Amino acid sequence: MADKKSGGKCFLVGAGPGDLGLVTLRARECIEQAEVIVYDYLSNAEMLKWAQEGAELIYAGKTAGAHTLTQEEINRLLVEKTEAGKQVVRLKGGDPFVFGRGGEEAQALAAARLRFEVVPGITSAIAGPAYAGIPVTHRGKNSHVTFFTGHEEPEKSGTAIDFAALAKLGGTQVMLMGVERIEAITREMLAHGVRADLPVALIRWATTGRQETLVGNVGNIAERVATSNFGAPAVAVFGDVVTLRDELNWFENRPLFGKRIVVTRARTQASALSEQLRALGADIIELPTIRIEPPSDLRTFAELVQDAHSYDWIVFTSPNGVTAFFEMFYKLYDDAREIGPARIAAIGPATAQRIKDFHLKVDLQPEEFVAESVLREFNKQGGVENLRILLARAEKARDLLPRELSALGAIVDEGFAYRTVPETRDDSGARRRLLEEGADLITFTSSSTVENFMALKLPWPEKMQVASIGPVTSNTAREHGLTVAVEARRHDIPGLVAALRKFFLGPVEDRSR
Ligand code: SAH
Repeated sequence: MADKKSGGKCFLVGAGPGDLGLVTLRARECIEQAEVIVYDYLSNAEMLKWAQEGAELIYAGKTAGAHTLTQEEINRLLVEKTEAGKQVVRLKGGDPFVFGRGGEEAQALAAARLRFEVVPGITSAIAGPAYAGIPVTHRGKNSHVTFFTGHEEPEKSGTAIDFAALAKLGGTQVMLMGVERIEAITREMLAHGVRADLPVALIRWATTGRQETLVGNVGNIAERVATSNFGAPAVAVFGDVVTLRDELNWFENRPLFGKRIVVTRARTQASALSEQLRALGADIIELPTIRIEPPSDLRTFAELVQDAHSYDWIVFTSPNGVTAFFEMFYKLYDDAREIGPARIAAIGPATAQRIKDFHLKVDLQPEEFVAESVLREFNKQGGVENLRILLARAEKARDLLPRELSALGAIVDEGFAYRTVPETRDDSGARRRLLEEGADLITFTSSSTVENFMALKLPWPEKMQVASIGPVTSNTAREHGLTVAVEARRHDIPGLVAALRKFFLGPVEDRSR
């Protein structure tokens, strides 16, 4: 590389077409290490959750209305931050060098003699068609692919699209940008001898849960766009390969495709639920309402953990409680045997699993997080009278368990292992998306998700229904005036996913297994 003026470096990173799973490992690594991230409208902003706490996130825009930086300002910003010695990530939709002006940004860095790297991404030009069931090449249908831009500034006559050349070339042609100009573009194509029945597909918001595909031919696609309110961002595929979609449309045929579902869990915990629903095809808005933090009185909790061995039972009511407990435990002790003779109870399968993750056996596991179920299990083991029980739980938890255990003669200590606080940040723009696009359903996985969502005082999107993980959460929802449409029968994430599946699809056989 040229003269290294500073330790700074700029990474021009392809963010892929939208599906979070289509981001490269290298891109994720860059995001995780970045001190400054400059991102666009098209890159899925959810990937910002991989950024370090405290990374500077700069929105460069490109959405109508919002303040956006000009290309010159972006170039200058990248140069400035890199010159200041920062690890800078410039996150761009798709591939940075495919109609993304990444080349210009690289030139600006090169001119300033700054170090940079390019991380190619999956371009919407290929992924878009693929997610619409259209292979861009297919034996017997075409032997070459052309990418072109439909967005040309009229005054720059030198760079105008060469329709004569395109018409002669044939093959598969993928157009980025320019759905707004589809009428003029298809008119030019016809005038240059392209056949009117050449198949065309437009794929909008490709690879995301809100993907939409419009199919037609060069002769009628403009009219179809006009009558269906179809708009940007979309890729257009021209060519006989489009007909393969009839057989190969895999993405839009998944069971929950077209359903928009809000996930309100804390950012760090949302992924299991989001991933399972996404795998079924749902469009997920991750709108975390809470964040997990250490308890207000960490010292008292530490003292209880230190004495854990002196209890007959340690009862865990959530995976978070387990994690907080053992993180503290292994700060205090370096030998697992210090837990002594205490037996371990875990409420719900997810809690039990977290205990197993710490290589401990669960002695008692009520299936349900309702006091009766817990008491019933304890009774099977001879009751709780005079037993010393440590309950590791969230601050301000609402269940009746400690009182009921005490009423049966147990000596109960409550250890507040963590607390949930309202999530105040909205870097991924989830709240804005919910307001603009609405949703079919919102999921609540604890009372605090209900309370904190309601505290945001967002207007309730029309027709948005409520799903709850269990009776305690449902009650809180009802106290807030909500009607619960779905309640999980098993009070954990797989239980909630199963309930949603049934709710949307009816009790059908699961063919995916
Ligand atoms: N570098 C990007 C393209 C940037 S130009 C890439 O490699 O994908 C912006 C254009 O890309 C949009 O106008 C649209 O045509 C296309 N595009 C990007 N993401 C898209 C998506 N998810 N769905 C449909 N089109 C998309």
